[in-house]
Amino acid sequence: MAGDWRAGGAAAKRMAKTRSKAVADTKPITGGCLCGGVRFTYDGELGGSLGLVTICHCSQCRRAHGYAAGVVPVQASGFTVIQGSELIREFESSPGKLRGFCGTCGSPLYSRRVSSPEALRLRLGTLDHPPADLVVEAHIFATDVPTWAEPDDAPRYPGLEPGRP
Ligand SMILES: [Zn+2]
Ligand SMILES: [Zn+2]
Repeated sequence: MAGDWRAGGAAAKRMAKTRSKAVADTKPITGGCLCGGVRFTYDGELGGSLGLVTICHCSQCRRAHGYAAGVVPVQASGFTVIQGSELIREFESSPGKLRGFCGTCGSPLYSRRVSSPEALRLRLGTLDHPPADLVVEAHIFATDVPTWAEPDDAPRYPGLEPGRP
């Protein structure tokens, strides 16, 4: 059944079920980059009325993230960098679209559009403790998924694969 999610059937059903769900969580959302230089808090809606929580498989995200990007729409007004704002660099990957990342460790943090200053698309991997009800609602740019990145039946290990020194 690998690849079913690309067909849209199951994904569309999941999406329909969760489309209107606003992720409400009273605990403060915190996050940061790999080196710990950039730290932020977020106070506001995660997805919900702001848009779907997605995995983006576009070729830009693949290069920037090494695979695909987990993305949640958030409100820029609720996003506060509490440490390391001077480390954040922004790369204009398309005209008017900026990708924010840590200049020390390279971790992707968010993307934003100059034309929509109220919105940020936060990278899911930056969150320290994602709310348990935060789930992926859609895969986008699914036709760009290279063969090597498609869902597969390869074995899963809790750490490195056996035999790796
Ligand atoms: Zn960093
Ligand atoms: Zn993308």
